[in-house]
Amino acid sequence: MNAAVDIISLSPRVRSFIGQPHQALIDGRWQAAADGKTFDVFNPATEEVIARVADCKKADVDLAVAAARKAFDGGPWPSMSPSQRGKILWKIGDLILENLEELAQLESLNNGKPIGVARAADVPLAADLFHYMAGWATKIEGTTLSLSVPYTPGAEYHAYTRREPIGVVAQIIPWNFPLLMAAWKLGPVLTAGCTVVLKPAEETPLSALRLAQLCLDAGLPPGVLNVVTGFGESCGAPLAAHPHVDKVAFTGSTEVGKLIVKAASNDLKKVSLELGGKSPNIVLEDADLDLAIPGASNAIFFNHGQCCCAGSRLFVQEKRYERVLEGVSDAAKKIRLGPGLDPATQMGPLVSKVQFERVTGFLKSGREEGARTVVGGNRYGNSGYFVQPTVLDGTRENMRVYQEEIFGPVVTVTPFKDADADLIRRANDTVYGLAAGIWTNDMRRAHRIANKLRAGTVWINCYNIFDASLPFGGYKQSGWGREMGHEVLNNYLETKAICAAI
Ligand code: ADP
Repeated sequence: MNAAVDIISLSPRVRSFIGQPHQALIDGRWQAAADGKTFDVFNPATEEVIARVADCKKADVDLAVAAARKAFDGGPWPSMSPSQRGKILWKIGDLILENLEELAQLESLNNGKPIGVARAADVPLAADLFHYMAGWATKIEGTTLSLSVPYTPGAEYHAYTRREPIGVVAQIIPWNFPLLMAAWKLGPVLTAGCTVVLKPAEETPLSALRLAQLCLDAGLPPGVLNVVTGFGESCGAPLAAHPHVDKVAFTGSTEVGKLIVKAASNDLKKVSLELGGKSPNIVLEDADLDLAIPGASNAIFFNHGQCCCAGSRLFVQEKRYERVLEGVSDAAKKIRLGPGLDPATQMGPLVSKVQFERVTGFLKSGREEGARTVVGGNRYGNSGYFVQPTVLDGTRENMRVYQEEIFGPVVTVTPFKDADADLIRRANDTVYGLAAGIWTNDMRRAHRIANKLRAGTVWINCYNIFDASLPFGGYKQSGWGREMGHEVLNNYLETKAICAAI
């Protein structure tokens, strides 16, 4: 344990948890990787090692999938009454809330996010997702159908559909909201009656391991949830390609999403994907700037810009351009950077060295391509993966910083003349289609623009509003399927049509 972690008073339970060996969960038992190897997990604020975790590879994936297969094909979970399943899901939500402080500290330590955000958002939203899903367990319904078969005149049929669990599901998740992403995936897959092998991101496996223990404590039978910790290529890839997995659900980069599709295509596994974004955030001239300026700042800087839906392309109508540019730049300057576990911190470090190099590489490319850095543009401090909140002006449509997902605290601000078809074209001019924002007091216009944006979520006079009941996901290369809401259950259910002649 290092001194830098000590100064921020971790609770004794968190201290004891991170100090223990971190093994994979397979068939209800915690076990080391088959080859005994581990990998290091870091505190991104200090670059120091905080834990060692089982380095699972194909052999471990095989065991985990076999356990999930056994639990699905013969175990009690898929056949348990929906009401009993719902009670276990509800209990998981309760246990998350009972362990809120521990989970928030773990998340902040490992991911770098401000402890206040983890306490107020990540952990309660994760609990709420399980509570919301618990209610759906008893409400998964088919339909009855009246048939008109032309070649059997006069015949009568009793025809109906059943929604059945899809089977063994591989879930691969990222590091930006480690606990919440695990909850978004596990809540619906368990509600549907599937069994799972979950692979958290190698940067941030700790809160998912803690959550898995809470799931066992809540009464989840062995083998229903298996967790393998490891790297993308050596653990994620064999999981996505495994012949005994029925479905892969992935959240992460569009680049890896494409690899997942290829891996799953061998045996045509079902796939759902929640991928990247380069979301337009549009401020019209009649907007209330007291809302729009902090709103646009939050849209990009929340979670250090490490959000797939970050409002990273800010469009401002000409008359208000200077004022909004100045306002967002001032807000960026005032953001207080520091370790996530310092309660005064408003923005922590990026999650890893790789991300740090990626984001600072984009900043360099923006400068080289001729964008003007209004504020930020550099690393912050000399240690830890901190990057200054950055506002770029004078970008052009062909610049990398304008087109590519940076996944860091970097926003491009560009003016537009009229809220017309050209604005819509520019807002939609990206391979992504995850989210968008509109700031205006003209609600008729806001809804008309919302209808034309090719994005899975449109926020009007707000941004980054998430709720278990609001479906979230992407158009275009931002993904397939939706997370949350009752729509997410479609990712994990098959429809069976049954037709009986009567
Ligand atoms: P990022 O680029 O933001 O780190 P990734 O898409 O690389 O996001 O990672 C998201 C998740 O995908 C992580 O759990 C990672 O280990 C996993 N992953 C990375 N590469 C692969 C791969 N080739 N096959 C399966 N999973 C992968």
